[in-house]
Amino acid sequence: MNRLDNKVCLVTGAASGIGKRIAEVYAAHGAKVVIADLKIDAAEVAAREIRDAGGDALAVAMDVTDEQQVVDGVAKTIARYGRVDVLVSNAGIQIVNRVTDFSFGDWKKMLAIHLDGAFLTTRECMKDMQARGEGGAIIYMGSVHSHLASKLKAPYVTAKHGLLGLCRTVAKEGGEHGIRANVICPGFVRTPLVDKQIPEQAKELGISEDEVVKNVMLKDTVDGEFTTVDDVANVALTLAAFETNALTGQSLVVSHGWFMQ
Ligand code: NAD
Repeated sequence: MNRLDNKVCLVTGAASGIGKRIAEVYAAHGAKVVIADLKIDAAEVAAREIRDAGGDALAVAMDVTDEQQVVDGVAKTIARYGRVDVLVSNAGIQIVNRVTDFSFGDWKKMLAIHLDGAFLTTRECMKDMQARGEGGAIIYMGSVHSHLASKLKAPYVTAKHGLLGLCRTVAKEGGEHGIRANVICPGFVRTPLVDKQIPEQAKELGISEDEVVKNVMLKDTVDGEFTTVDDVANVALTLAAFETNALTGQSLVVSHGWFMQ
């Protein structure tokens, strides 16, 4: 039996990168997956690829910062599949700048995507999980930056730290309902989000792109390696399939040893 047979899993930001791989791995393990993303065309492509591979997937247009779109997207999920068992709150962006140069608009945009999005999707999915009384799993995409800081990333670091607080509160409120909440904290993964940052950081720090990779991104790993989307998806699979409240309110760092708890 596949580990997620008959589970309905909603993954935000699943049209690209880490979220896309999580959706594929969940589908390969028997889940019905909902690809919720701002970019509906890319979400449709991701859902079609999963269906072509024999899985079950639905694409849903969702800007996680828009309350009505989140409410509608979760309602659409329940209309199609009857329930939500697993939420992966993964949608995110990166904007790098010095604190003194950050515009208030960029600051608010970052907190909205990472924190408002996590709150809104949690609220809507958790209501369904509680009403059905069969438990569930909520997984937040944190970062090593949930635990430590880097230059140029003030709102990202702030938001990723904030997810630990939301997760722990959800774990406490969800406990009596069998709803577990955990945070995955990846190191650097080569996705469009990171590829965009390399030249930006090189310019801002006055070093080469190679130096950004070696001396900034991977400097503190045990082996100089990037984390992969498969590494993160496999941890997300374990957290989604785990069966008891023994594993809740935690953050798991998946980073080749960068930041050891
Ligand atoms: P990505 O750019 O490949 O994918 C992000 C997806 O989120 C895109 O499909 C995008 O359309 C979607 N998205 C953006 N804003 C949205 C919104 N408002 N509503 C709905 N969808 C939206 O990025 P990724 O690297 O796969 O990042 C996914 C998550 O992993 C993010 O939360 C990121 O902070 C986190 N993360 C990434 C890394 C890394 O090194 N790539 C490391 C740690 C944590």
